Amino acid sequence: MNILVINSGSSSLKYQLLDFEHKVVMAKGLCERIGIGGSLFSHSNSNGYKIVKEEFEMNDHRDAAERMVEALLDPEHPIINSLSEINGIGHRVVHGGPIFSEPAIVTEEVKESIRKTYVWGPLHNPANMMGIQACEKLMPGVPQVCVFDTAFHQTLPEEAYMYGLPYRYYEEHQIRRYGFHGTSHMFVSRRCAELTKFKSSTLKLVSCHLGNGSSFAAVKGGKCIDTSMGLTPLSGIIMGTRCGDIDPAIVPFIAELEGKNCREVDRIMNSESGVKGISGVSSDFRDLEDAAKAGNDRAKLALSMFYYQASKIIASYAAVLNGIEAIVFTAGIGENDPKLRQVVCDKLSYLGIKLDPEANKVRGKEQKISTDDSLVEVFVIPTNEELSIARQTVEILDLDKCLVADKPEEVC
Ligand code: ADP
Repeated sequence: MNILVINSGSSSLKYQLLDFEHKVVMAKGLCERIGIGGSLFSHSNSNGYKIVKEEFEMNDHRDAAERMVEALLDPEHPIINSLSEINGIGHRVVHGGPIFSEPAIVTEEVKESIRKTYVWGPLHNPANMMGIQACEKLMPGVPQVCVFDTAFHQTLPEEAYMYGLPYRYYEEHQIRRYGFHGTSHMFVSRRCAELTKFKSSTLKLVSCHLGNGSSFAAVKGGKCIDTSMGLTPLSGIIMGTRCGDIDPAIVPFIAELEGKNCREVDRIMNSESGVKGISGVSSDFRDLEDAAKAGNDRAKLALSMFYYQASKIIASYAAVLNGIEAIVFTAGIGENDPKLRQVVCDKLSYLGIKLDPEANKVRGKEQKISTDDSLVEVFVIPTNEELSIARQTVEILDLDKCLVADKPEEVC
């Protein structure tokens, strides 16, 4: 069974074709700079061998999807022989708004509902829709599914998702906490439930997705009960270039001081802030760590802020969950940065957390990194958003139930 997973952005389209039966990524590729000139296309096979890396003009997502299909069917390097070999297409859709709490099979009605979510996801959702429409045109008859980044967080209780604004903003515009990275939090928390010694049906865990964008989720018995991102992915911990939680009155304060409008301040908070804005060095943690080792005080400060805020959020979730049994680190930083994991867990030692320094050296591999006598189990679990989307696509299309139990490391 082959599932095509599509992640389309405003000027990009990423894809992976997954073969569940043979447990491999058959091909993956990236279309970049769509519609902005100088487009690039790259496509590689299951061995990671780059079959194509070329400049190829793509004016819109339809062009990009056409190039993808051509590469998949290329008679010289065929990945598949016919589009009928694709059993389903899973699309990442960033914002499900208040409408979608689970994946949805694409129909005219669902597309209409996705258009209604543009107000909450103005940057991403129209781009996600372009990917859906391009695939519909090129692969009519292949069932398509939307998987929403916000859906996993739809189980948040009211007290966790409401903001302290006049109630009418919630009633009239559904302004509330939605949360993001739900596909990843769901994937690693399900896997954690399989690995832990604690009872999975009541497991209390904190999932830490730490990458360019970072977020946390408090999960109880598989259901998310709090998360650090909000109406938009700007809130929560300080990130690569995003400021995370700040006093909201800073926005009009900067606007007045510098004669800017709120859109400009929003751009500064999204693109010029975070650890990059603090350090003046980079948004990449590897660069920050190198700079800190070389004695750069602002790089050290940026890292300390990240560690401090991470431990503060996890501790607040220990309160929300009334104790925690497991912590999971995932995504670029979470999977690859032993120092971060050590510092954050040391700050939480009062919860009875003890890391095994040898096990904590792991990078990018699934491993328990806490000692056997640690009161909280700590895991590194590599995320796999494509596989999570493919699984949810298989589940909702009812394609093959037995495949849902596949272990992540066996697939990719
Ligand atoms: P995205 O949110 O774009 O998906 P990723 O999850 O790929 O991001 O994470 C990217 C970040 O992971 C990089 O910016 C970098 O800071 C961090 N990272 C990757 N490898 C390492 C490493 N070996 N040590 C520390 N940080 C790393």
